[in-house]
Amino acid sequence: MVGAGPGRADLITVRGAELVGAADCIICDKLANPALLSYAGPNAEIIHVPKRVGAGSCKQEEINKLLIEKASAGKTVVRLKGGDPCVFGRGAEEAAVLAEAGIDFEIVPGVTAAIAAAEYSGIMLTHRDYSSQVVFITGQEAEGKKDTNIDWHLLAKFPGTIVFYMAMGNLDFIVEQLITNGMEKETPAAVVTNATFPTQRAVKTSLRRLSKQCKQQKIEPPAIVIIGAAADTDDKLNWFMRKPLFGRNIVVTRDHRGNTDFAAKIIQRAGNPIEFATIELKPLTQTNQFLQTLTKLAEYDWIIFTSANGVSIFFESLQSLQKDARVFGSAKIAAIGSETARRLDEFGIKADFVPTVFTGKELGKQLIGFVNLQGKNVLLLRSQLASNELAELLVQAKAKVDDTAIYTVVPEKSESNWLKEKIADGAIDWLTFASPSSVKAFFAQIQSDLINSSNVRVASIGPVTSQQLKNLGVKVDITAREQTTDGVLDAIERTYE
Ligand code: SAH
Repeated sequence: MVGAGPGRADLITVRGAELVGAADCIICDKLANPALLSYAGPNAEIIHVPKRVGAGSCKQEEINKLLIEKASAGKTVVRLKGGDPCVFGRGAEEAAVLAEAGIDFEIVPGVTAAIAAAEYSGIMLTHRDYSSQVVFITGQEAEGKKDTNIDWHLLAKFPGTIVFYMAMGNLDFIVEQLITNGMEKETPAAVVTNATFPTQRAVKTSLRRLSKQCKQQKIEPPAIVIIGAAADTDDKLNWFMRKPLFGRNIVVTRDHRGNTDFAAKIIQRAGNPIEFATIELKPLTQTNQFLQTLTKLAEYDWIIFTSANGVSIFFESLQSLQKDARVFGSAKIAAIGSETARRLDEFGIKADFVPTVFTGKELGKQLIGFVNLQGKNVLLLRSQLASNELAELLVQAKAKVDDTAIYTVVPEKSESNWLKEKIADGAIDWLTFASPSSVKAFFAQIQSDLINSSNVRVASIGPVTSQQLKNLGVKVDITAREQTTDGVLDAIERTYE
């Protein structure tokens, strides 16, 4: 029984992630972030159990049956539950069922929503000056249960912080109970919805105004309600929602894998990535040219990688051929930029040269300044679509240059109406482009007029990509100083300074 954490995928525990990766079967709650399933092994069976009232719901008994059935079949089962598995999560019932059936189990705690909602909105649940105790309450008791376990009288006098889970459907009642039982109407109150996500919202008010404020601001579940002095914290502590990219809707337009990497960086900066794959990378590592090149890599003086994608595709091919980095012999290795160098590093290779400006042209110019390439054998391992500029510079420096394509880029057509609508509705803040091929493929599907006439802004990774945008008549709002995806995000952040 694994706690998935409160929302953001990377808030799962190390042990939790490890078990998700090792599971044969994952039985997943609605509140657990689906992104966590990317940690699952390729053969894991994934079962979603939306335990909701109404059609398509899955009763607790069915979940219990499923747990026993899968575990009895000898599978390692992960029951992935939002937040902590045993905090208002019916973990106790599921554990009892397993114990009863003689099935061995482990409980992995998770960050529960109360703690996450508070900390991601700068509210300190405990504080030595004003809150030495915290109480967690469910705002919605078990269905069909007549008597309430909540002692409203006691709660109204509670000298600390009160946190309600599942309270949105019952907010009027909760507030009324607290006030009629004697709680001061002006007691600070806060509600945090979608905690830890870029869509997080927080309302800070008083107990008296809580319900009305939530209705006015259309606060919907999942939300945590916090009542007590703690709810009235200094806005300066609201570190998450104060981040420059917080809540910004940023479209990423690379290939699937590139989009996943880029999206993770956006999430780390509190932004909301929207993935729209425009291109697909097709390895050319089965071609005779590549396979022949591979047999004589050690004969080169310099081998140059001009993208992180190229590095990944190269090493995947080595892997499938049961080879490793020794194929390079003593050849020196250059990388076009920091991301490419980092990817090489993941495969145990320290780049011998990385230019200070990450373009093909600069790489050529600076490498020539760094070493004498006259008569040297240089190999470019890169995209079939790369420009000739780099090769020409190296040839001018009298190097013997071989250019081997290890992948090509083909446009990918995805359904784009949803994105067009979002752009037209003003629901997108930024479109980002990380290569000229993405630009071409994107604008083959979406008209530049739509972009130019909307309030969406356009960010480009570097001059070549910006030029491609301009050629297609698209306005470019910013071009990154450093040609990396982090460089693009730095540039976007600067616009909010
Ligand atoms: N076991 C879970 C709680 C399940 S009950 C945990 O430990 O967090 C479901 C309630 O959790 C929701 O009604 C809401 O009150 C709270 N919740 C879960 N995720 C939340 C989120 N991202 N933001 C705010 N509240 C959340």
